[in-house]
Amino acid sequence: MKKKKDALKVLVVDDSKVVTKVLTNYLASMGITHPLLASTGKQAIELFKSERPDIVLLDVQLPDIDGFDVSKAIRKLEGKGEWSAIIFLTSMANDADLARGIEAGGDDYLTKPIAQVVLHAKIRAMQRLVEMQRQLVSAKHKLDLANTKLKRISTTDALTGIANRRAFDEFSELEWRRCMRKEKPMALVMLDIDYFKLFNDKYGHQAGDDCLKLVAGKIAKATPRAADLCVRFGGEEFMVVLSETDLEGAQCMAERVRQMVADLKIPHYATASKHVAVSCGVVSVIPNEKMSLEAMVKSVDVALYMAKRGGRDRVVAGEYSQA
Ligand code: GH3
Ligand code: MG
Ligand code: MG
Repeated sequence: MKKKKDALKVLVVDDSKVVTKVLTNYLASMGITHPLLASTGKQAIELFKSERPDIVLLDVQLPDIDGFDVSKAIRKLEGKGEWSAIIFLTSMANDADLARGIEAGGDDYLTKPIAQVVLHAKIRAMQRLVEMQRQLVSAKHKLDLANTKLKRISTTDALTGIANRRAFDEFSELEWRRCMRKEKPMALVMLDIDYFKLFNDKYGHQAGDDCLKLVAGKIAKATPRAADLCVRFGGEEFMVVLSETDLEGAQCMAERVRQMVADLKIPHYATASKHVAVSCGVVSVIPNEKMSLEAMVKSVDVALYMAKRGGRDRVVAGEYSQA
């Protein structure tokens, strides 16, 4: 016949067959019909490892390791958020033992001979704590999920689905410091859609939104490396952080995106190509203590401005400038 599982998993650790028998009977009378049984400390630890009982009834005097050490070992095995109730069983009823038991990670104490009514009461009390603990773990899990979702929402641009300015602020700061430590170059590519105001005015805001989504999709496609980040920086402006990338590499990436956007062939009456185009500024630098990320962002903005001034639909490589 298949064993019916108890709602509460109890591990009884006692080297005396008589005590074990009595406890097993008491537990059965409260519906716990299949407790786990161990007669040595080593066995108890092994069973705890594999079965993760909710409650451990733990004899202090065992033939190998004493109960206090078993308790300490159990507490070490428990992961974050895990908790099992440990009730010590002992015949020496003295306060020093009680204190030692609690110190070793125990939660309660029963003196032998154990009265059925006392065992029941203590098991019930511990069961309540176990259930509260389970609810706490479940609530924490839900909270973690909600936080992850919130974090994702707060760093995602609602229109395009790519990361937003907030994500850029967090990521670029970390990347700046990392590249400084590693003495590696960090590159920024700033992209801006050409004559987008005119596009909106002519084709409508909805067409403008659709265009932004398509352009964002191309930028994201052009930056598949997990170490890189592309964000919608503002209105029709995008920024790409390229990790450990020199100027040549960054220019190459910017040119690829520029071409991909041109290949979309979204009609736009106001540009030279008669299609939606982007201008890009690029800067790459090996950060040092004297430089600042702010100046780097400003420098790439200047490069973008030069691309606009130079006729748009192009990539301009700029230089880091401290001013
Ligand atoms: P330039 O070539 O010099 O960049 O000219 P521009 O017209 O693109 O630049 P400007 O900064 O004057 O205009 C940006 C326009 O982008 C203004 C606004 O109509 C449009 N825009 C900004 N955000 C959004 C958005 O979320 N949706 C839509 N549809 N349009 C947006
Ligand atoms: Mg623009
Ligand atoms: Mg702009």
